[in-house]
Amino acid sequence: MRIPKSELKVHAARVLRRLLKLYPDAHCELDYRNPYELAVATILSAQCTDKRVNLVTPELFRRWPSPEALAAAPREEIERVIQSTGFFRNKAKSLSGFAAKVTDEHGGQVPAVMEQLVALPGIGRKTANVVLGNAFGINEGIVVDTHVQRLSKRLGLTKETDPVKVERALVTLFPRGRWTILSHLMIWHGRRVCDARKPRCGDCSLADICPSADKFLQ
Ligand code: SF4
Repeated sequence: MRIPKSELKVHAARVLRRLLKLYPDAHCELDYRNPYELAVATILSAQCTDKRVNLVTPELFRRWPSPEALAAAPREEIERVIQSTGFFRNKAKSLSGFAAKVTDEHGGQVPAVMEQLVALPGIGRKTANVVLGNAFGINEGIVVDTHVQRLSKRLGLTKETDPVKVERALVTLFPRGRWTILSHLMIWHGRRVCDARKPRCGDCSLADICPSADKFLQ
């Protein structure tokens, strides 16, 4: 089953309604109290689970509660604290560079502007969208992680797989005010039901409107 282009917006609205009903409490699963903490947690979440990041950040934020403090921290100390999140040398380098630039060029405040965010070390468009959408309530774009990428294709919302192209397709289908929650909903569904290797289509509340259900239902 393929969704005709003329019906895509109606289909997208139906998908959104179902997911909202299924996960009324969907939210960012990283723990944070301000934009600085969310940016740091998101940098650490690359190739790592949110759960693991949430185990590491309490100590990190206790020791270095601000960009100024983190910018002054010895790199080896940061590496030691974040080691269990993987790729810790690169991540520590990103965190140091991010904290230094926020301190030197933004007065210690994480900027709420896409162009300024992506100019910071360790911050790509995905991380910037996470920070803008969740810490500042600004729907600038849609976070396309591996779950959003996979579900967008399976649900017939786009044929694209490149994250930038997926985002470009999704922003035309969903109202701007829903962009941030849409990512959370897809991520929650991807983690709980629409698994990468073994999607549980038999238990999925979207199976009757999902063009991929027949591929995975035996
Ligand atoms: S029906 Fe299957 S493929 Fe479609 S969203 Fe549900 S679990 Fe994923």
